[in-house]
Amino acid sequence: DMAGLPGFTGDPAFLKRLTAAGFAPETIDIVCCTHLHFDHVGWNTKLEDGKWVPTFPNARYLFCRAEYESWMAEPGGYAWNLPDTVAPVVDAGLVDLVDPDHRVTSEVRFIPTPGHSPGHMSVLVESNGARALITGDATHHPVQWAETDWGMSGDWDGAQAADSRREMRAEHGDTGTLILGTHYAAPSAGHIVSVNGEWEFHASTETEF
Ligand SMILES: [Zn+2]
Repeated sequence: DMAGLPGFTGDPAFLKRLTAAGFAPETIDIVCCTHLHFDHVGWNTKLEDGKWVPTFPNARYLFCRAEYESWMAEPGGYAWNLPDTVAPVVDAGLVDLVDPDHRVTSEVRFIPTPGHSPGHMSVLVESNGARALITGDATHHPVQWAETDWGMSGDWDGAQAADSRREMRAEHGDTGTLILGTHYAAPSAGHIVSVNGEWEFHASTETEF
């Protein structure tokens, strides 16, 4: 169980499936954390002999500097889990504090989407002329592409979160960017499309993109 959240184990088979897909934990070289809320950093660490240790011992863990410093200054809220999921990777020297527009590789970079949390970032993947955007918690439900002012109760700054959604929609609406909604129900991938002057999210049921 996660400390403070009895019964919440995540998916115990996750690492097995990751390994079966060709990505054994020790081969992972970069971990991108969109923000430090408890449900987005759970696999940063794993419990070994009663101690939380890095799940990906050979990786650099990338945190937004503003996000990390904000939670360090004012811990709690949705980031109550820092001692178990963040401190162990910091203590192991595996963390790089980055700017919110940090480029990770030639094809992967962070996009600043603050509001849900102080230094929230989304992840943009650009490859072979195609783009995909991993939203993180910049949105929680597809309806927020139509109603950008509709927030989530846990948003740190609701007005800023809405501004971030409008910026993302302006950049990626009607462009073919594949939106990967972190919290969306399946099918969680799709496109932001304008129809008669209104914005809609068109979920894709394709398995190959
Ligand atoms: Zn969150």
